[in-house]
Amino acid sequence: MRPSPTPPLPADLASARPAVWEFAGLLLTYWCNARCAFCYVYSGPERGGQMRVQDALRLWGSLDRLAARHGKQMRIHLSGGEPFGDWPRLLSLVRAARETGLSPVEKIETNAYWATGDGIVRSRLEQLDALGMQMLVVSSDVYHQEFVPLERVRRCVEIARQVLGPARVRVRWWDFFRHATQTGGQADPTLPRETCRTDSGRRRRAYAAALRRHRDRLTGRAADELAELLPRHPAPYFRGRNCIREILYSRHVHIDPYGNVFPGVCNGIILGRALEQAPEQLWQRLADGWCAHPVVAAVVSGGSFELMQQATAFGYQELSGGYASKCHLCHHVRQFLHGRGIWPELVGPAECYAGAGHAGPAPGGPRSAQPAPLVPEPGPACPTPGPENTARCGAPADNQDSSSRTRSSSRLVARMPSGSLKRGPSYSMPT
Ligand code: SF4
Repeated sequence: MRPSPTPPLPADLASARPAVWEFAGLLLTYWCNARCAFCYVYSGPERGGQMRVQDALRLWGSLDRLAARHGKQMRIHLSGGEPFGDWPRLLSLVRAARETGLSPVEKIETNAYWATGDGIVRSRLEQLDALGMQMLVVSSDVYHQEFVPLERVRRCVEIARQVLGPARVRVRWWDFFRHATQTGGQADPTLPRETCRTDSGRRRRAYAAALRRHRDRLTGRAADELAELLPRHPAPYFRGRNCIREILYSRHVHIDPYGNVFPGVCNGIILGRALEQAPEQLWQRLADGWCAHPVVAAVVSGGSFELMQQATAFGYQELSGGYASKCHLCHHVRQFLHGRGIWPELVGPAECYAGAGHAGPAPGGPRSAQPAPLVPEPGPACPTPGPENTARCGAPADNQDSSSRTRSSSRLVARMPSGSLKRGPSYSMPT
């Protein structure tokens, strides 16, 4: 699967306004029973962070008002880590949100580890249904099934379909789940679940098979553990792959237990601190001056390659083995910035980066070992034809003549505050 074409940057980039946030995920905790290789952050049993119910309600209310002020309806989902890890807290949050008239919970995401018996599943789902939860999303893939018996996932899905109706139960990924349940517990054609923890070769092949089917964003632990299975490219390959769609045009944010607000798919880039400044104000501040946020300005104007170029001023060294995607490059650069304490209020928290107890990359250090990728390079693909997209087949759409974009990017970076290339945030945070 090739990445979708990079959107052109507007001629007057600095005046671009972010989309209004309409989808918000409250990451209630970084704790998880599992430690999946494909985690966008670094959740695990040793991780903590619990969003307090009163904080969640405050954020929820502010997000509702932000959307309503722009004529929209906010859609809140609850995730983690594993939100069912503290069931009383989850239930009291959903109940309190209902009682205070907040928008209904659009969905709750879980890996179903807690589905140890029919009674507990039915009881919990009936309570959530009565409180207005609209959808349950259950994770099922080769990564989760290393930690969660498939039987629990099957029980959760079957009972959820009875309680909520099939249309309100989603399995991610359904093709994996169906195959695994139909083949008597084989989590993957190449990987009996019983051996996945002990046979690293088979595990790598199973991961590669999963990546072939569902190529997804390589950030957090996924960047560190899975990128080597994919074909990699030198950093300049990603030049010009701006992230305006993922940052400014995205209507989706996540807020972690500490109040850090992340763009929808870019956990670890802090847009603001929502426990100190309400999401309504944070969005407005971003709308009024996103150029002053050095990380946002870099990735919006020039993608992770631009961010890397800025990080080289601090000593970042390009990986000799290359990068599997622009997000892999982005994560690796941010891992370096985080490790060096650069822009700590904009790049964090620790739970989004390799740290104590995690085998992450040495910040900035080139890797010498280059295991062969197990996932073949996708074949040539043409981006959607259009006046803004004249790329040749088989080459990154945004690596073509990008002179106008480069000029926009240069102008933008030139307008960035001079402090943006110094250690410490130039995007002031409330204290
Ligand atoms: S490169 Fe970075 S900023 Fe851009 S979409 Fe990926 S994680 Fe987000």
